[in-house]
Amino acid sequence: MSLIVVGTMAFDAIETPFGKTDQIVGGSATYVAYAASNFVKPVQQVSIVGYDFPESEMNELKSRGVELEGVEIIKDKKSFFWSGKYHLDMNTRDTLVTDLNVLLDFNPKIPESYQGAEFLMLGNLDPVIQKQVITQLKTRPKLIVMDTMNFWMDIKMAELKDVLKLVDVLLVNDSEARQLSGEFSLVKAARSIMKMGPKYLIIKKGEHGAMLFNEDQVFFAPALPLEEVFDPTGAGDTFAGGFIGHIARTKDISFQNMKTAIIIGSAMASYCVEKFGPERLKEITREDISQRVNQFVDLVNFEIELKG
Ligand code: AMP
Repeated sequence: MSLIVVGTMAFDAIETPFGKTDQIVGGSATYVAYAASNFVKPVQQVSIVGYDFPESEMNELKSRGVELEGVEIIKDKKSFFWSGKYHLDMNTRDTLVTDLNVLLDFNPKIPESYQGAEFLMLGNLDPVIQKQVITQLKTRPKLIVMDTMNFWMDIKMAELKDVLKLVDVLLVNDSEARQLSGEFSLVKAARSIMKMGPKYLIIKKGEHGAMLFNEDQVFFAPALPLEEVFDPTGAGDTFAGGFIGHIARTKDISFQNMKTAIIIGSAMASYCVEKFGPERLKEITREDISQRVNQFVDLVNFEIELKG
């Protein structure tokens, strides 16, 4: 059982109404790997970094069963850098800076040892590169899950629609679902996006949970009401890592099992937001994860008997 994860490994600078960071480690693939490695090993990482990406972070990932053969290191360039500022609601943010740096040269080559992976998680990245990865795989994985964001819809919509034809599950947030489909109703948006390729669609709604669509079925998972949200950065990627991690561990790609997977994704995301960057994800144990999943079960478990 193996999982390929593709995405950015980066530096972020984050501003929230409650605090501010200098450059800290981030990136879509970093968060996915920290989350997924709790459930599946190896995680076979595909990314690109510059000379400045900390070796200590690479070692931390390796110690969790993340293989880095597919991570290219460019000796004379800087890593991808992203900076964002959250609004008071902590659900919406403005991107302040996106410095592509090494991403401009990214031309991923899938190592031979990664071939035959059963699952593929395409983290948020240039859709052209996401497609390049899919087409290099000699055997199609059992499930291809893809994340993206408004940034790529703004500048590479045609390329994004092209790669959508090749994937099974798409993850977007509510405003991105509206932008991609041109529909305001999320039900109509889901129907329209599922015609673009993915058979399953997950729409994330930040602190308001996530919805899973497949044909005419829909399932809703809440987000855990947290007393404090410190930094929402990476919550979407962490959700994706928990989701695909659970699917890869169980090897079950049914809608029923995806329901469990979005609860697990939500539980992982709830940890991510408790500290800046991926720090909190490094502290938690399997026991913590089980406890939090149980909190989700308690949150939504009820029985109704309609009389009369
Ligand atoms: P999330 O909060 O889950 O949307 O993910 C935030 C992470 O995505 C940050 O750690 C950034 O480094 C990374 N990121 C931001 N913009 C992009 C982009 N355009 N392409 C790929 N990764 C990005």
